[in-house]
Amino acid sequence: MSPSVITLGSPVTDLYGIGPEAGRKLQKLEINTVFDLLTFIPRRYNDWSSIGKIEDSEDGKELSFLAQVTSNPVKKGIKKQAPVSFYVSDGTGRIELSYFNAPYILNKFVVGDKVFVHGQVSYYGMHPQIVNPFCERADSTDDLNLVRPVYHLTSGITSNMINKWARYALKAVKDTIPDIIPESLRIKEHLCSASEAYEYVHMPSSLEQAAEGRRRIAYEELILLGIGMKHFMSAGGKDEIAPVVIPSGKLSEDAALRWKTVVSNLGFKLTGDQKKAIADIQHDLMKDTPMNRLVQGDVGSGKTAVAILSMAMTAIMGKQAVLLAPTSVLAKQHYDSAKALLKGSGINVALLLGKTKASLKKEIKEQLREGEASIIIGTHAVLTDDVKFNELSLVIADEQHRFGVKQREKLLISRDGSDGINSVHNLVMTATPIPRTLAMVIYGDMATSVIREKPAGRKEIKTHFLPYTDGDDIYNVLLAKLRRGEQAYIVCPRIDDDSENLAPDEFYFDDYGFLSDDKNPEAVSVKEMKKRLDARGISDKYPTEILYGSMKETNKLDVMERFLNNEVKVLISTTVIEVGVNNPNATMMIIMNAERFGLSTLHQLRGRIGRGDKQSYCVLCSDNKTERALERMKLMCECSDGFELAGKDLELRGPGDFFGTRQHGIPTLRAANLFTDAPLAKTSCDEVNKVFEKGGEDAARLMDNIGRMFRLRFADKMGTL
Ligand code: ADP
Ligand code: MG
Repeated sequence: MSPSVITLGSPVTDLYGIGPEAGRKLQKLEINTVFDLLTFIPRRYNDWSSIGKIEDSEDGKELSFLAQVTSNPVKKGIKKQAPVSFYVSDGTGRIELSYFNAPYILNKFVVGDKVFVHGQVSYYGMHPQIVNPFCERADSTDDLNLVRPVYHLTSGITSNMINKWARYALKAVKDTIPDIIPESLRIKEHLCSASEAYEYVHMPSSLEQAAEGRRRIAYEELILLGIGMKHFMSAGGKDEIAPVVIPSGKLSEDAALRWKTVVSNLGFKLTGDQKKAIADIQHDLMKDTPMNRLVQGDVGSGKTAVAILSMAMTAIMGKQAVLLAPTSVLAKQHYDSAKALLKGSGINVALLLGKTKASLKKEIKEQLREGEASIIIGTHAVLTDDVKFNELSLVIADEQHRFGVKQREKLLISRDGSDGINSVHNLVMTATPIPRTLAMVIYGDMATSVIREKPAGRKEIKTHFLPYTDGDDIYNVLLAKLRRGEQAYIVCPRIDDDSENLAPDEFYFDDYGFLSDDKNPEAVSVKEMKKRLDARGISDKYPTEILYGSMKETNKLDVMERFLNNEVKVLISTTVIEVGVNNPNATMMIIMNAERFGLSTLHQLRGRIGRGDKQSYCVLCSDNKTERALERMKLMCECSDGFELAGKDLELRGPGDFFGTRQHGIPTLRAANLFTDAPLAKTSCDEVNKVFEKGGEDAARLMDNIGRMFRLRFADKMGTL
C-alpha cells in the first residue's frame, strides 16, 4: 500500500487514507506534499474546552459537557430519514441527542457509556435536545482535543479530514523536520521546537498553545522568504558586478536635441511626481552600483511615460534598455506609445513577443546584439530566449507583481555577467502599494519613488453599485455612453458557462475573503454577457468583442487593437484587462459579480477608465447580499485612492490572509502576515545572518536546512504564481 518511508516532500497521497480523489481536492488548497499539509495552518479554532452542566443549558447556546448514556440509541419512526436518538445525563439534567443520516449511532453507544458531548442545545418546551452533536466516549476531557481546528476548505474536504491527515503526517515525519531557527533567536523569542509547533497548531490543548505554534511557524516562513530568496533564488554576486553606467556631465548638443524631441512628443506636462521619479532614476543610472528601484504609482498616474523616458535617456546615452510587460496586449500597447514618443529622436525600438515570427525574431536579436536597436519591449518570452545585448544598461519590469518570481529571477540571472552581460540597473513599476518593510524582505534594499499626483484635468470616476447582475438599468447606462461615441468595458468573472478549465485570471473571493478558484455556477460569464447584448440588439449597433486570457495570442491582439482604434465599442472581458490597458476614450466600466474580486483588483479594473478628460463611470453589479460584499462595494463607491483602498483591503481580509501576498508576486504565506509581521522578518533574518557570518559547522548546517526547506516550501511553487 503506502510506501514505508514518508518524507516532508512526499506527495500527500502517500499518506494513509488520502486517495487520488482527495489528493486532487487538496491540490485546490495548494496542498501537494506532506510538508504542505503540515504548514496548512487552521484559519481559526473552535474552543470547546469550557465544560458546563446540562442544568445550565440555554436554548440556542452551545454546550460542552461530560455525561453518561441513560438509554440505548433507537430509531424514532419508520421513515428512512427518521433520526436515531438516545438520552444522556450528567446528574444535573437529562438531554436528548438526535442524529440524522447516521445509522451507525445505533451500535455506537449503550447505556452506561461515559461520553463527552458538544453541540447547540435547542429546547422544545422543557425538553432540551441536541441535533447531530459531537459525542465521543470519554471518562474525562484529558485525552480529548477540545480546541478544534477549523481550516480553509474546498468542497468534499472537511476540517476533520484535514486535521486527521495532518496528524498522520506529523506522526510520520516529526523527527525529520529540519530546524531553521538559530539557537539565539529561539532563546530570545521563547520559541518552541519545530515538531512541537506543528503539534500545537493542529492539535492544541489551548488557544494559547495554538498561537505559540503559529508564532514559531511564522518565524520559519519569514526566514525562508528573507534568506531563501536571496541565497537560493537570485544570481550570486550581483552586487559585485558594475552596471553599464550612463555617463554624467553635460549632454552633447545632439543628445540634448534628441531628448528635447522626445519630451515635446509627450503632448502634456509631466506631473511633479513624474518628474521626481525620472530625476531619481537618472541619478541612479549614473552610479556604478546597480539601481534597484521601485516606482509605485496608482493606476493612471502615468508610469508608462516614466518608463519610456528612462529608456529614452538610456538610449540617447548610447546604451540599451528593456521593458517587460506581463501580457502581450500590454507589451504591444507600450510599444505603440514608445514609438509615438520616440518619433524623430532616432532611437530604434523593437517589439518581441512569444508569437513574433522566427525570421523577425532573428532579425531583432541581431539588431540588439549589434546595438542597432536600443530599446526592446516584450513579454517575458524575451527573457527565456537567448537574447544578447550590445550594452544593456536598464531593465524595467512593468506591473512587476504580475510576473511570477521565477520570471523575475530569470531577469536577475541574465545580468550575472556569465555571458558577457554586465549587471544592469533594475527598475520595477507597480500600482500595488507595498509596505516598506515588506519590500525589504522581498527585494532586499530597494529604493522607492512614489507617484501620487494624478495628471491634471482628470475628472474623478463616479462609481455606482447596482444590487443585481441583469436588468434594464445596466444596459441603459451602457447605451447612454455608447450613444455619445464613447466606449465601454464589461468585466465578468468567468469565461463561459461550463468552463471546466478556469483561466488563471478567474480567482475570486469567498465569504471569508479568501481567494478561491471554486466554480460559481451563478457568476455571469463573458459569453453569457455577449449573448445578452446580442439579444438586446446592442451588439448590432455597437460592435462588441470578447477577450480572455486563454484566447489565441493573435486574436487577443487583434481585438485589443480594434478596441483601441475605436472600431470595437464594447469589450467584454475577464480580468485580463486588469493591468495596464490604456484607452482614454473608454469611459464606462461595468463589473459583473463585483463581489468576486478583491478591492485591489476592482481598483485596478476601474483604473482602465477615467484616463481622458471625459467623465467616466464605473458600475459594480452584484446580487450578493453578504455584509462583506456590501462593505467592499460601499468602499469602492466612496474611495478612489488606491493606496487607501489597499490598506482597507488588508484590514477587511484580516491577518489570516493567506493569499494577499499574491498581489506582490510572492508565494502564499500560511502562518506569517507579511504586513504585520514584516518587522519580525528583519529580526529573524539578522539572527540567521549572524550565524552565517560566524561560519563553521553551525552555519553550514543552517544554510543546508534553510535551502532544503526553502525548496520544499517555496521554490517548487513559484512557477505557478
Ligand atoms: P499607469 O500609471 O496606470 O501605467 P499610464 O502610464 O498608462 O498609467 O497613463 C495613463 C494615461 O495618462 C495615458 O493616457 C497617458 O498618456 C496619460 N498621462 C500620463 N502622464 C500624464 C500627464 N503628466 N499629463 C496628462 N496625461 C498624462
Ligand atoms: Mg501601467
